[in-house]
Amino acid sequence: MSFIRSSQRQPCPLCPDKDQHGDCRFSKADNLILCHRWIDQPSPYAEATQYKYLHRSKNDLWGVYVYQQAGVDGKTRGKKPPRSGGRQSLYYSDRHGHNLIRVVRTPKANGGKDFKQYRWDGVEYKPGLKEFDKRNVPIYRYQEVRSAITQGKTIFMVG
Ligand SMILES: [Zn+2]
Repeated sequence: MSFIRSSQRQPCPLCPDKDQHGDCRFSKADNLILCHRWIDQPSPYAEATQYKYLHRSKNDLWGVYVYQQAGVDGKTRGKKPPRSGGRQSLYYSDRHGHNLIRVVRTPKANGGKDFKQYRWDGVEYKPGLKEFDKRNVPIYRYQEVRSAITQGKTIFMVG
């Protein structure tokens, strides 16, 4: 990897209060900074500049920092979250506003839509409504869920 020296024109973001003598190094390709001032402990500027202190360099000259949006190893940078593929979740709560049912609508390759139903078990949404205690579901809510599923409504938020 190739490193750029810090300078007056391009000061090290981790030690901007220090006289710049080209002591720090940047590697833009790897999202790394080698800081010559903050070697053994994280720079107080690390958080604000979104650089994460990793460790002291093997040659003891630098503290190694990686831009936080990059992976910890500095390699997997700018990784985008996986595309949801147009998936939408519909949430239904009971009359007290508690979590109740989640319906996930996924567009299918043939242009149709796939619906999966989940019930809230107090901790997370579990697939299927089979074991769901329907006594907890106000019947009108349940009807809304059913009709939303059959009509393929896109968004249907119940607060
Ligand atoms: Zn520095």
